[in-house]
Amino acid sequence: MDILDLKPGALYFLEVAHDGWCPTLTTGNGDDCQCSPTLRLHQDTDYFIRSETLNRRQRRKAQREAEKALCRARAAK
Ligand SMILES: [Zn+2]
Repeated sequence: MDILDLKPGALYFLEVAHDGWCPTLTTGNGDDCQCSPTLRLHQDTDYFIRSETLNRRQRRKAQREAEKALCRARAAK
């Protein structure tokens, strides 16, 4: 990670994005991480929360579509 330009008294969010197969995603424990997560530092709290909410909706939608596709693939066998 690059050198962080942190200012005293400021509030930061560190976003850690793990790969889809990383055990941390199922255990929720950062110690189980076996991937090289993407780290992003956010200072604009509102923007971070907004983008996270959007990402969550997109992830859920993508997951539902993947499950549907899997069901279709299983039914076709
Ligand atoms: Zn990981």
